[in-house]
Parts: sequence; structure tokens; C-alpha cells
Amino acid sequence: MIRFAILPSHRQYNRGVKDEHGHAIVLGAGVSGLLSARVLSESFDLVTVLDRDVLPDGPGDRKGVPQSRHLHSLATKGSELLEYFFPGLDAELSEAGCPSVDQSLHAITDTPEGRLPRFASGVMMRAASRDLLEWRVRRRVENIPNVRFVHKMEATGLIRGSSRSIKSVAARSRDDGSETTFEANLVLDASGNASRAPEWLEAIGYEAPKETVVDARLGYATRWYEVPEGFDADWKSLAVLPGWPDNPRGGSLRRVEGNRWTAVLVGIGGDYPPTGEDAFEHFAASLPSPIIHDAIKNSKPISSVYGYRRTANRKRHYERAPLPENLLVAGDAACVLNPTYGQGMTTAALSAMALKKVLDERRPENLSRRFHKKQASTVSPAWTATATSDRQWSAAGVKELGRARRFLHRVSGEVMRLATEDEATAKTLLEVKNLTASPASLARPGILLPALARSLR
Ligand SMILES: Cc1cc2nc3c(=O)[nH]c(=O)nc-3n(C[C@H](O)[C@H](O)[C@H](O)COP(=O)(O)OP(=O)(O)OC[C@H]3O[C@@H](n4cnc5c(N)ncnc54)[C@H](O)[C@@H]3O)c2cc1C
Repeated sequence: MIRFAILPSHRQYNRGVKDEHGHAIVLGAGVSGLLSARVLSESFDLVTVLDRDVLPDGPGDRKGVPQSRHLHSLATKGSELLEYFFPGLDAELSEAGCPSVDQSLHAITDTPEGRLPRFASGVMMRAASRDLLEWRVRRRVENIPNVRFVHKMEATGLIRGSSRSIKSVAARSRDDGSETTFEANLVLDASGNASRAPEWLEAIGYEAPKETVVDARLGYATRWYEVPEGFDADWKSLAVLPGWPDNPRGGSLRRVEGNRWTAVLVGIGGDYPPTGEDAFEHFAASLPSPIIHDAIKNSKPISSVYGYRRTANRKRHYERAPLPENLLVAGDAACVLNPTYGQGMTTAALSAMALKKVLDERRPENLSRRFHKKQASTVSPAWTATATSDRQWSAAGVKELGRARRFLHRVSGEVMRLATEDEATAKTLLEVKNLTASPASLARPGILLPALARSLR
């Protein structure tokens, strides 16, 4: 399907931004590509989104995003940004049957330090499947008059122009294998974790960006269940958190639209959960808390068990690389976070907001450099929190950590213990996890001082 039209009314939507930029191409129609297209449509005459898949006209599974079978938590910050880009989206998801979850009142969270308190925290989550969320966002973007989608079109390389810029994108049709090129004023790669932009850059004489990888060797196994008839417990979400070094296993279960539960089991440090159906249940029974196993053991499964192991945190440092001035790389293609922290879609939305801010400055010079710097600083708090926690899993035990990191580990354990006893601390933890508060807010005296005192004891 190729849809393309520029309506005169779109110019009002530009809010005075001139259409001087012409044509922008987005590689990939995942969450990052869709949000980027939404933002670029304000500044470019035409935005073309290429995807190698057929994009279903509904909340369907597709090959290009195998992660969509797994639980996708939308952090509160991500929800706020999606609502900003697509007003009314949250109400649409609610109408589609996605529950609203207070992450404390409607959730049971068992940590290595004990159970978090349950109270009305106001830290909310709209619990949707990834398929539904992506489709609803895509529908909104399809309705932007100057955005067109080209399905079954795989980007295969970048073609250099005469100066320090990209002239076009090389692509291959997945229908008949024919090769084609798309001329562009700007190219934004949002092709996800497996982005080939580093190789494409090398092929046209640039260096690939340096990478930082932090791999906790974490595996996922997910199975979907029907919510049992007459189920009336007071929770919509369950979580069992792993804890380094003794508890490498954890999991979550959440109700989403369609009267379904998604149950996810995780194992860290190479303790991968199995994908056999009986073995999945045995692994659930081996978690340090029985809550997930208790929920699924007598429930009806409605899927097989799906595994996933490509979960390393990976940052490609485009902000430091010399790049063509009209090439941008966003979303997972630039920075992937260990998915258990549930922040990837939100960092994609933060990247889209960074893009908007850079474009709103209306300075075409050094666009790529300015965007990548802003994107790097925007996603940095999430990266630091995730990578710091995951680095522990590469140490064999507490002794190996060194004094300073050992102390830090003790303090963060005490912060968690405090959260099990104190609603205000639990709320701050939730806000940090949902990217509505900075990690520095955990260092306020009311939290840090008691945690330090207990650690010293
Ligand atoms: C197991 C798992 C669980 C996750 N859970 C969560 C969660 O709970 N919460 C959360 O916020 N995030 C979660 N994430 C992360 C989240 O899926 C991504 O961070 C987020 O969707 C942004 O991804 P993206 O759009 O950059 O890439 P993707 O979603 O991977 O999309 C990339 C798109 O590019 C297309 N494509 C790829 N190559 C080409 C090419 N050469 N030419 C054309 N098209 C191409 C693909 O078909 C695809 O449509 C999870 C990820 C995984 C793996």
C-alpha cells in the first residue's frame, strides 16, 4: 500500500515552519519510526516510512518486531509523550479494553527485600499489548496527510551525495526483489536493534560509531493466558524482582486488553527460562515468590511459550561520530536498553521529543550533530540506571565488586528495603522507574540518610 497526498490544510499544522526541507525518509515503522515520522511531518513536505514488513491493518503480529509477543510496559513518561503527540490516544486504548493500572494499588511487587506497600500512588500505566499500541499509533500517523508508508521495502544501504550528505537510500522490494532508490533531504534510521547503519556508513567512507555494550545475559520466556472466569482479585499486575547475586530469576504478569494475561519469566546471568510448556511452569514455581505461579497454574494458556535472549544494553555513540549532516539514527538503532526495565518505547518517545526540539530551532546547520547530542543526553539517565544495575551481573559475587561498589550495592538494597516500609520512598522509586522523576530524587535526605545509616550499621 502506498498512500500519499499533501493537503493544503497541512500547512496550518506546520505552525509557520517553512516546507523548505522537502523529503524525509524514515527507515522502520516501529514505535520510534512512527513517532519520528509524526515529528518530521511538521517540518518536511513529505515523509516516507519504509518497512520491510507488511504492516497489518489491525493489532497483528509481524516478523520485523518479534518482541511484540512479550509484555510491553508503557512507562508513565512514555504515556504522557504519546498523549502529547496523539491527543486522545489514552482514551482510545481505554475504550479498546486496556486497563488503567495504579502501579502500587493494583500491583503486587515482591522484591528481594520484601513486598512493596499497596496504596493509591497515582503512578499510572495503561496496560496494552505492544501490537495494539503500535497499531493505534500507526493509524494516527497514517492519517497525517504528508506521511506515506511503503510496505515490504527493505533499506539496503545509503548513497552518498557530493558533499557531506546522503543523497538517497537504496532499497529492495520484498515482493519481487527489485532494487530501487529513494532520494531524500533527510534520512532517519529507526530500524531497531539490528540496524545496519554502522555497516552502511563504513561502505560510504565513514567510520562506524563506537559501541558500549552491557550484557546481563538475561533471557525472556512469555506465555499468554485467558483471565479465569469470575476472577476478582484486587490486582491487575504482578512482579517478582530478581536481585543480584542470589536471585537471578524473576517475572511479571499483567492484564491487558482482550481479557488476557501476559506472563513473562526472566532469568539473568545465563539462567535462561525454558520455552517448553511444562518447563515454563516449573520455572515459574522456582521464583522466590509464588505469586505468578499461583496465578497461572490453573489458568488456560492461549499461546505457546515464546523465548527471547537478545537483551543486552547497547549504546551506539552517534553523538561522537563524524556523520553525514542529514543522517539521524533514533530509537533502538541508537540505544537499546535491557527490556525488563520497560523503558524502550519511552526512550523512543524521548528521542522523538529531542528531534522536535532540534527541528523547532529552525537551524538546518549541524542538524545531525545537534540531534544526536540531545538524544544522548535525554536517554542518559535511563541508560545509566539500567547499565549500572546490569553491570553487577558480570561480577561473580559481592566480594569481587571492590569496596566502593560493594557499599553502593548495600545502599541500594537499603533503599529498596525502605521502600517496602515507607509509601513515600516506594512512590519515588516508581516515579524514577517511570521516568517522571530523575534518579537523583532517590538521593534526597529522607531516603538517602536512613539508607546510609542502615548500610553503615
Ligand atoms: C523482549 C522485549 C520486551 C520489551 N519490553 C518492553 C517494555 O516492556 N516496555 C518498553 O517500553 N519497551 C520494551 N521493549 C523495547 C521496545 O520494543 C523498543 O525499544 C521500542 O519499540 C522502540 O523500538 P524501535 O522502534 O526503535 O525498533 P523496533 O520496534 O524493533 O522496530 C524496527 C522496525 O524497523 C523495521 N526494519 C528493520 N530493518 C529494516 C530495514 N532494513 N528496512 C526497512 N525496515 C526495517 C522492522 O520491520 C521494524 O518495524 C522490549 C523489547 C524486547 C526485545
